Amino acid sequence: MFDTVLIANRGEIALRIQRACRKLGLKTVAVHSEADSTLRHVALADQAICIGPAPSSKSYLNQQEILLAAKATGAGAVHPGYGFLSENAAFAAAVEKAGLTFIGPTSQSIRLMGDKVTAKQAMAEAGVPCVPGSDGPVPEDTAELAEIASRVGFPLIVKAAGGGGGRGMRVVEDPSVLASLVAMTQEEAGRAFGNPTVYLERYLKTPRHVEIQVLADTHGNAVWLGERDCSTQRRHQKLIEESPAPGIPRDEIARIGELCAQACIRIGYRGAGTFEFLYEDGEFFFIEMNTRVQVEHPVTELVTGIDIVAEQVRIAMGEELSIPQRDVSFNGHAIECRINAEHPWKFTPCPGKIVDWVVPGGPGVRVESHVYPGYVVPPHYDSLIAKLLVLGSTREEAVSRMKAALGEFQIKGIQTTVPLHRKLMDEPAFAAGGSDIHYLERLMSLWATSKENGHEL
Ligand code: ADP
Repeated sequence: MFDTVLIANRGEIALRIQRACRKLGLKTVAVHSEADSTLRHVALADQAICIGPAPSSKSYLNQQEILLAAKATGAGAVHPGYGFLSENAAFAAAVEKAGLTFIGPTSQSIRLMGDKVTAKQAMAEAGVPCVPGSDGPVPEDTAELAEIASRVGFPLIVKAAGGGGGRGMRVVEDPSVLASLVAMTQEEAGRAFGNPTVYLERYLKTPRHVEIQVLADTHGNAVWLGERDCSTQRRHQKLIEESPAPGIPRDEIARIGELCAQACIRIGYRGAGTFEFLYEDGEFFFIEMNTRVQVEHPVTELVTGIDIVAEQVRIAMGEELSIPQRDVSFNGHAIECRINAEHPWKFTPCPGKIVDWVVPGGPGVRVESHVYPGYVVPPHYDSLIAKLLVLGSTREEAVSRMKAALGEFQIKGIQTTVPLHRKLMDEPAFAAGGSDIHYLERLMSLWATSKENGHEL
């Protein structure tokens, strides 16, 4: 069907996709910006094409150039990775229109699930429990808005239908400022996401973020591959992910997982996907679906032994899923720490040259990274430079293994989140597991106070 895959991405995920393609005996085409000609997957690709200058708007988001590169190299499929064009329905449609295979869902599915308002409506119809809210975009009429808001209750959260990356959200405590904060969020959403639609949700005070990984093929099969707990966040962005989610009954996970798999079949979903939920007081509430591979997918790969990226490619080739649900089993406990080129507690980006780079290893340790000694982290893109993953037979063993691995990790030349992860692994509350989404920020403000008393991270 196709023997060459164009990788429309960069960094660690481009390398990850390339490895999956090679395993399947497929050739790869790397498209890269002028700033990325020294990336490892570019050197390893069968063909490489520079598609434009460093800013992503001129390269990784340049649909025309990517399609031209596919044509010039004879690529038959495009893998979008995560970020960039991965959830752009128009791009998926343009790829298909050009006679190529988009390694992901159909553009209709991306459109349906990429808009959080229509996604929630579709999931509610499929019987998936959702966060109570406005059940649609907020109305223009302010009296009507006030009525809906009082039904939802305060505090509530105003969210952009097209939002992502933890942006386009605003918590409203006081009804008197609702209308102005809605208007502000609409204005920002229009600018940032090209879609001013916003909706309301009840603001859950101490939820955990627990998501379900799914795979669906074009033969009517869908499986759920367990959950990931991504509650260790800052500014609504994930920093540590793990599976299984500590303390959540397995039959509850299975019930929600089954609902997600059924929802995939119902909407004709194909490929890999993630249903994101908030979990509070023993209840799951759907918030959104990601219609692509996620950064944290290796957590699930470690506990299930399933190569999610290879499955994505196989599904796109029209093959059946390689495993039925009854054969999916979960072994051990996996944890992922995101290593970002950032100040460890201010989270300001820290691009620059990495002069020393020694990665950890040993049993149960996996490092996903495109970095090598001497690599210069460009200032133009996401700050993720590595994902450090461990698998232990228990959570306790996984935490010990992570501590040892973080101790081995040597990165010199730039600042990274490694010191933060090291410190977190020693925290009793982290060791206990099951903290809510505000845990890290609470902890960091405590640290900030003790820092004033002479403590340094
Ligand atoms: P994005 O697409 O930007 O990632 P999400 O809808 O997935 O946005 O939400 C990201 C994070 O924001 C969640 O993991 C959670 O921390 C917080 N959040 C979102 N909705 C709510 C809500 N209704 N109540 C409390 N926190 C929320």
